Amino acid sequence: MCLQNSKKMRTGGPLVVDAHKIYTLKVFSLFCELKEQSEFYRAIAVGNGLRYEVEHYDLNIVQYWCKGRYTVQVQQDGLLYSCECGLYEHFGLPCCHILRVCVSCFMRLLTCGV
Ligand SMILES: [Zn+2]
Repeated sequence: MCLQNSKKMRTGGPLVVDAHKIYTLKVFSLFCELKEQSEFYRAIAVGNGLRYEVEHYDLNIVQYWCKGRYTVQVQQDGLLYSCECGLYEHFGLPCCHILRVCVSCFMRLLTCGV
């Protein structure tokens, strides 16, 4: 494992560790970029947690070049996610919005013990 990937594995959290197990090195690198992009978003649960509004922290600034706010649907008890940006459906990698929701759901599990 190269030094750069080793650092990503140590600092990226469980999603990055799992991604390293299943993706090729090039796809793993793309995944890490998406994971880093996800840090700039917050996920807000809507209703019973089956839908999230994922919004960039600097919404007013990013709206000059991207939408900045996306809806993520959670299906099949959290086994399937879909985002309106469509990256996953077109490219096969979860987008940064889905990754933000995954991290938020994981944190809710840790804090609520559910
Ligand atoms: Zn998305």
